[in-house]
Amino acid sequence: MRTTSFLMAFSLLAFSSFSQKTIAIKCGHLIDPKTGSDQTNMVILVKGNIVESVTSAASFKQKTDSAIDLSGYYVLPGLIDCHTHVLLQGDITSEDYDVQLLKESIPYRTLRASRSAKIAVENGFTTIRDLETEGAMYADVDVKRAINNHVIPGPRMQVATRSINTVGHYPISPKDYAWELDLPKGVQLVNGADEARRAVREQISYGADWIKIYADRGYYRLPDGSYRSRPNFTKEEITAIGEETISSGKKLAAHAVTRDGILAAIEAGASTIEHGFGMDDECINLMVKKGVYWCPTIYVCDYVAEGRAKAGSPINKYFMQTLPALFKKAMNAGVKIAYGTDIGGYSWDEPQAKDFSYMVQYGMSNLQALQSATTVAAQLMDMEGKIGEIKTGSFADIIAVKADPLKDIKVLEQVKWVMKDGAVVSRQF
Ligand SMILES: [Zn+2]
Repeated sequence: MRTTSFLMAFSLLAFSSFSQKTIAIKCGHLIDPKTGSDQTNMVILVKGNIVESVTSAASFKQKTDSAIDLSGYYVLPGLIDCHTHVLLQGDITSEDYDVQLLKESIPYRTLRASRSAKIAVENGFTTIRDLETEGAMYADVDVKRAINNHVIPGPRMQVATRSINTVGHYPISPKDYAWELDLPKGVQLVNGADEARRAVREQISYGADWIKIYADRGYYRLPDGSYRSRPNFTKEEITAIGEETISSGKKLAAHAVTRDGILAAIEAGASTIEHGFGMDDECINLMVKKGVYWCPTIYVCDYVAEGRAKAGSPINKYFMQTLPALFKKAMNAGVKIAYGTDIGGYSWDEPQAKDFSYMVQYGMSNLQALQSATTVAAQLMDMEGKIGEIKTGSFADIIAVKADPLKDIKVLEQVKWVMKDGAVVSRQF
């Protein structure tokens, strides 16, 4: 115990003295996602973990403790992924999922999560909203704490802990095992409004920043091409969850794929709709009216579509056929679309920046796609002005790429340099 507290005191002391230091970052190009401006030869002055000033190189005179030369690079704010799973290492098949829940201890999964967190920040995602641990209980709170205490590298995190669904309605395994076995569950299962309320209170007491629900399951396509699903909660249950979440000052994220889940979740007060591949016009209108965000998680849908179709479930393939038109319609209607990948649902060794290309292909400008992972995502996380922008007072979360992302969005798949909280965490040159 004594050793631990000594080390903690030492690291805090080391950090606080480090935090006073100043760094001048010389930027060849500085991209502002808010305005789309590209300014050349700029200097970002970082003090501790905060941006102190942004000025032209010509007018910058201040002496600093150190300097970083990014004059050959395009510099922009750290990216934000609003839908990740650091505790999950890909669950394309139910066997992948079962191995993690049934053969890996939560400590082992947490060690793997520390690798996921390192990958996220090296990918240029300096902030993530991690949307449930899939059976690893509250280990996301520990990962977040370890990052904040500089024990491991990783992005700043908002976490959802266990997620909530109703008994018998979690769409994925462990399932089809002998019924007398009491197996760990991928989510916290509740029955009735009282249990639902209790789950929210429990999760918040252990550190949940968000409450996540699975609003629907069993997605299917009707002959007219529209989609439906089965809602997981009674009105009393989902209302209790929404009320308890909002009255505790937290926000509700809903895995909701068609109108049956989406409308119920929005009515209960959800701030974000996850996936939403089968939403209809009524959902779009309500999302615009209430300012609800959509995290479309496109790459993961495409990634699993073929394999699942071969295994007898073609629904993701249908979604991929209708998603381009739906995306365009939602965007033109004014739905706030925030960048979210669901990485962890697919391997952390796969790209995290692939969704940008899909968004551009589906009609966004490069700037709009970049905004989805910076200014828009910052609003979703209630951190507007602190992340997703490089300006006086914002956190020093900064990345550099070799070419102009406003011309070629794919350069975001190869982030060359990352600073998070004023510390360089990745340098690939
Ligand atoms: Zn997910």
